[in-house]
Amino acid sequence: MFIINSGCNHCEVDILYFYEMNEFLQTSIEFLKGVGPQRAELLRKEINIYTFSDLLNYFPFRYIDRSKYHKISDLPYLDSYAQLKGRIVQVSEGGNGKFKKLTAKFQDESGMIDLVWFQGIRWIRPLLKVGVEYQLFGKAKLFGSTWNIPHPELAEYDSITVKTGLQPVYSSTERLTAAGLHSKGIERLTAALIPQIKGRIPETLPLDIIQQNRLISREDAFRLAHLPKFENDFHQARLRLKFEELFILQMEMLLRKKISMHKSSGFVFKEVGDVFNNFYNNYLPFELTGAQKRVLKEIRRNVMEGVHMNRLLQGDVGSGKTLVALLTMLMGIGNDFQAALMAPTEILATQHFETISEQLKDLPVKVALLTGSVKKKNRVHIHEGLEDGSIHILIGTHALLEDVVQFQNLGIVVIDEQHRFGVAQRARMWKKNTTPPHVLIMTATPIPRTLAMTFYGDLDVSVIDELPPGRKPISTVHRYESYRLRVFGFLREEINKGRQIYIVYPLIHESEKMDFNNLMEGFESITRAFPLPEFKVSIVHGKMKPEDKDFEMQRFIKGDTQIMVATTVIEVGVNVPNASVMIIESAERFGLSQLHQLRGRVGRGAEQSYCILMTGDKISKDTMKRIETMVRTNDGFEIAEVDLQLRGPGDLMGTQQSGILNLKIADLARDGQLVVLSRDEAKRLLETDPRLEKPENGMLRQIMEHVFRSKPDWGKIA
Ligand code: ADP
Ligand code: MG
Repeated sequence: MFIINSGCNHCEVDILYFYEMNEFLQTSIEFLKGVGPQRAELLRKEINIYTFSDLLNYFPFRYIDRSKYHKISDLPYLDSYAQLKGRIVQVSEGGNGKFKKLTAKFQDESGMIDLVWFQGIRWIRPLLKVGVEYQLFGKAKLFGSTWNIPHPELAEYDSITVKTGLQPVYSSTERLTAAGLHSKGIERLTAALIPQIKGRIPETLPLDIIQQNRLISREDAFRLAHLPKFENDFHQARLRLKFEELFILQMEMLLRKKISMHKSSGFVFKEVGDVFNNFYNNYLPFELTGAQKRVLKEIRRNVMEGVHMNRLLQGDVGSGKTLVALLTMLMGIGNDFQAALMAPTEILATQHFETISEQLKDLPVKVALLTGSVKKKNRVHIHEGLEDGSIHILIGTHALLEDVVQFQNLGIVVIDEQHRFGVAQRARMWKKNTTPPHVLIMTATPIPRTLAMTFYGDLDVSVIDELPPGRKPISTVHRYESYRLRVFGFLREEINKGRQIYIVYPLIHESEKMDFNNLMEGFESITRAFPLPEFKVSIVHGKMKPEDKDFEMQRFIKGDTQIMVATTVIEVGVNVPNASVMIIESAERFGLSQLHQLRGRVGRGAEQSYCILMTGDKISKDTMKRIETMVRTNDGFEIAEVDLQLRGPGDLMGTQQSGILNLKIADLARDGQLVVLSRDEAKRLLETDPRLEKPENGMLRQIMEHVFRSKPDWGKIA
């Protein structure tokens, strides 16, 4: 391979590490040879380069091996970017109005190809000189039957500055280019700066870590990132800088975890208690899975310690998180505390209430349900029961958070499907007792391990990675619209076997009206295909009154209707074991994790279940990848990994924790192994020097102090 893509599209971001606050690095860019006041002004305005340090951290986004060129005649066989050397023989402008096009005929000894531009024509045109030799970088595309290269990068070929080795490519802007600071101009600046850095870049990582991991020094990393000779140089440079970034982040997470453990003492659940034992020995509906047992032990150890529990419980849909939650709450009750279970929707809260009340019916545990639709009189009654301690478990929705809801002695809070709750809402649960209750957050959206380490690095994480026995894997297929009649035929067969069906439609905010119409049309066509009295069809969507929604949901749960047409309101948690088919309409419009969540509504009983992903005929490459992934696997963690690759960590985690996303070089989606490595190394270091007191860790200590000063509490989850 002769062109190395650094894989970083936004490396122009400045990295203003405070430890580069030494005099040399903080020198104004104006004073670098070849800059001066005017260019300095431009560098500041256009790409935020104020100082030497900023320039050092302005990394090339690609490197070109200048010693190697492709031929134009090779291009049709090359499905990648290529470097060419040749001359422009003619320039012309065509098209009109919005669709202007600039074309340059480019020739080398093997042939000719058109270079085309659709944008920036006004400033590119004057730069194109006929007869001058250019070095070109671009990718050939087939338009109709002719090949051309849209928007190539061009630089005048300059045999004097052409050395062997790799040429860095920096991103530039229109105004910088006009001032001579195109990629090559910036390269001249870094080339002027690099010789001066010798002995002036403080090392941030302890020597031991550098040696153990065979990293290069910080100084070498800057030198080789800007002026690599060999491919390996640039890899080494990036590896070093990425490792440093991730290592510092992991140090921070580990230290935060330590601090919060020291600071917040928590309730002690001395023993598992009688209620737990009684339930476990006499009323447990099934043998726990190995994973459930392991997680319970982890929780048990945690709540005995006198340390506040702040634990994330990850487990795929149907893995049996509710039972773990119940047993955890019983531990609290056995130690004279109250427990609360908060769910994101009324339907789900009600379902939890019904299951748990049923399971506890022979035990001296009082369970109450509090949702928005509980009537005033009942509500007051519940408030009293909570305050005098006669209610042991409160299950509900957001209504639990209201200030009027006060407990006598709340010891444990379980939050189901955490992604629906904001940080602020969770924080309100803390205020329900003088010491914050233990918190168990359950999520069925598996988070890839590397992300969990980073985003929830200050939380404890438990994972249920095993489904209860006897589950048949859901069989998932992709069907195009043209297949619909056969799909309906299949549904009839399933209904005749006594099964129930979900049919889910997308309802996205931006196109709400159209989606709603589609849903209604879909509902009508289904009632036509599945007519009364033989078939009964329910419908649930967000515009219905809560009572009506509930009524329809209940009809389906009881088996009075065989088909449930719905929007994603049923996404979370609902449990109807007899439902065996999930049809997802316009599956192309759902994200991967949402598809997986929806699919998790079936496959809960003993029967073989199916998920049918319906799409239009034309679907994008990304959609195809999502669909293929769904068809290939039922493993939520594997799906989460693919989702991470497709969407990137920002979209995956929501903007809530975006503070952590200010990574400059490392990429959580691609650098998974480095995340793990840096985590292990940070742990190892803190084991030998927990307070960073050793002289060799002095720099690190300063860095951490700075980090903690500049980023207060974003890590707090609950
Ligand atoms: P989720 O993790 O998605 O919340 P649930 O707690 O709703 O899953 O459990 C899914 C189904 O599996 C429920 O019907 C539950 O009763 C059942 N279940 C839970 N644990 C076990 C087990 N150890 N053995 C058999 N079935 C179980
Ligand atoms: Mg659940």
